[in-house]
Amino acid sequence: MEKPTLERLNEKILRFPRVPLVPWTTPLQSLSSLSRELNGPKILVKRDDLTGLAFGGNKTRKLEFIIADALEKKADTIITWASLQSNWCLQLAAAARKHGLKPILVLFRTYDLPFSYQGNLLLDFLLEADIRIEETEEKGKSVDQKKAFSRLEKIAEDEKKNGRKPYVVSVGGSTTGGDMEKPLGALAYLRAIVEIESQLLALNQKVDHLIIASGSGATQAGLLVGAKALGLETRVIGICVSDKKEEFSSQVKNIALELKEMLELNIDLEDRDIILFDEYLDEGYGVVNAKVARIIRQVFEKEGLVLDPVYTSKAVIGLVDLIKKGYFTPEEQVLFIHTGGTPALFAYNSRLVELLQK
Ligand SMILES: *Cc1c(COP(=O)(O)O)cnc(C)c1O
Repeated sequence: MEKPTLERLNEKILRFPRVPLVPWTTPLQSLSSLSRELNGPKILVKRDDLTGLAFGGNKTRKLEFIIADALEKKADTIITWASLQSNWCLQLAAAARKHGLKPILVLFRTYDLPFSYQGNLLLDFLLEADIRIEETEEKGKSVDQKKAFSRLEKIAEDEKKNGRKPYVVSVGGSTTGGDMEKPLGALAYLRAIVEIESQLLALNQKVDHLIIASGSGATQAGLLVGAKALGLETRVIGICVSDKKEEFSSQVKNIALELKEMLELNIDLEDRDIILFDEYLDEGYGVVNAKVARIIRQVFEKEGLVLDPVYTSKAVIGLVDLIKKGYFTPEEQVLFIHTGGTPALFAYNSRLVELLQK
């Protein structure tokens, strides 16, 4: 007899080495006050802000596979890049330290935030991460990946000269390149949807839409490929936080195709499966405006749930707007994945207070 799909997919995931960093199944909760207030569909939240490593977030799951890959390749140093208050870099630094690897972080100042050991940067400092700051000309825009990679490769060369064995990985652990040859970040979110599906099955529930903040693409790609592999009709909606969808959708699709190939899955992936909304980008990546400040306050007051200022706040702005525009029917269920990032709130303290005191 054929095995159930969930089990079969799990077996494929087990082929890849993974160091455990998330010690539990993250909770699923209902955001009933918010759904009631919006008169909308039923909203659930998957608490991936509670992954259990350095204040949590979606990067913990990705790093379970990425750190295992670095260890298998006998690395003793891990090098990556992102923005100044990067959640990815903090999570990577914490996971690396825990497993005896030295973290080197190249942090680009992509937004006008004063340098201060606050939020994620304070935590990076406490972990003794090797921090290299890079200026950028255009604020609110994402960094050119090629430029960032060449910077990392140069640092890797220097490390090698000093007898170290570096492992280079791209922002967010999303696109392959450097020493990460397989889409391991996306694999982690395929594994996450298996976890979500098991939770929903136990509750005898199903969701029609998953909604997330999409930044470097692996979270969305993993969820999408996972949903298809499980034969679900659930649609995966990404709210763009850094790039316009014209530039970004091909990145999500490429990661999804790589994941499909890696797991030898017999699924169709069409352009229309990549659902992205970029109208909530406003002034761009990492720029906190009044809408962001207000949604953080609203969700905190209504649900006791703390959103971050760069990703999840934008995802919920999108969710609320789509509800208001009638994108979902009242009978549908929507699952928002809280992908973490809350330490960055503290780096935006003056901006948030200024916006909300007006
Ligand atoms: C990185 C990040 C995301 C986006 O995940 P990607 O896989 O890079 O698209 C969403 N939310 C938070 C809080 C993040 O740190």
